[in-house]
Amino acid sequence: MHPERAQTVVRVWLLTLLSALGLGVLATAPAVADPPAGRVLSVRIGGEGSATRVVVESDVALKYHVFLLAAGTQRVVIDLPRVRWSLSGLTSQSGSGKGSGVVAGYRYAQNTATTSRLVLDLAKPAIVAREFVLAPKSKDEHHRIVLDLDPASAEAFAEAAGGDNSGPQPVAQQIARKPLIVIDPGHGGKDPGASSKSGLQEKDITLAIATQLRDELLGSKRYDVAMTRSTDIFIELEDRVTKARNLGADLFIALHADAGAKPSVSGASVYTLSSEGEKRVDGARKQNDWILDVEVDSSRPEMVNQILADLVQRETKNQSARFAQMLAGSLAEAEWPTLQNTHRKRGFYVLLSPDVPAALLEMGFMTNEADAAAMTSERKRKKLVQGVAHAIDQFFDSQTRIVAAK
Ligand SMILES: [Zn+2]
Repeated sequence: MHPERAQTVVRVWLLTLLSALGLGVLATAPAVADPPAGRVLSVRIGGEGSATRVVVESDVALKYHVFLLAAGTQRVVIDLPRVRWSLSGLTSQSGSGKGSGVVAGYRYAQNTATTSRLVLDLAKPAIVAREFVLAPKSKDEHHRIVLDLDPASAEAFAEAAGGDNSGPQPVAQQIARKPLIVIDPGHGGKDPGASSKSGLQEKDITLAIATQLRDELLGSKRYDVAMTRSTDIFIELEDRVTKARNLGADLFIALHADAGAKPSVSGASVYTLSSEGEKRVDGARKQNDWILDVEVDSSRPEMVNQILADLVQRETKNQSARFAQMLAGSLAEAEWPTLQNTHRKRGFYVLLSPDVPAALLEMGFMTNEADAAAMTSERKRKKLVQGVAHAIDQFFDSQTRIVAAK
């Protein structure tokens, strides 16, 4: 029926713009399942040839493990719980930066499903002479992990690296992360949604097709998939959006089935956020305490953060519209019946997340006999699910191309 709404946001033009503004920026893409332990806000490296200090700032105290790796480039590795990397204020899955002193440069990424890793590539052998943590003394300060690196002989480095040399390969090879698709089966529990003449309920249809779509996407091995519900339970609309955001969704798809006044009305339609709905985004953000990744850098003037937040919202909206067009086209190709002007806009609450591309698919009309039959036919559902999966492939393929072109 209706109400509802999720981040691979490839902000190429945004990155370009930010670079023009002189703001160091990293390619962006969000996190995987399990909420991150915290946010790394900066990595600072200072030093002139000899003693080098590395400071990692985070919003919460982070447990960490430091060790040296001798294989290949000599490096210092800092393992962390899974964090959001929000260096320069924009969140990214991975990135790199310039070093100083004994550190030639650094790289960071998510390392496993539950850990993140910061790697310091050394310009010359060095050992960790001192390490300590600092808690913030005022609300303007962050938690800090501080490492002091001293130059050392090759032998001293090799000895220090000795025990921990089992470390995995360079981080760059491990960060291939699948996009996370969050599927939101509409309604559930005490809220049945629309009904068909024969008594079918929308909440059951959306859950069944969402599950089928999840299996199709997982089968392709290209995506991670989460569902806002996988049983017949009631979930508030804002909890659906919050869940998708907390998971770091790259794309959010809400599934619904419509009800019409006339039984003759039939066909699927795809909704993205309307301009009316956009006005609700700010309200929803404040109400739910949704912090955009760009807003966390307190070292920047608030106005700059606000401009960046606006850019992210606008880009998210463009992404959503792009996906909706692909979805409408893909459904038509899959010979799934669609309404005219298949892509429409409305202020559905579940579409309000400011930084996750999102679309709501009304798969057809419960009140139309042919639509209801199609949505319950295993064979026809397969077409629908493949059509949606094809549009998702197109969406992420085109992003890969944009990235590749940069
Ligand atoms: Zn609905």
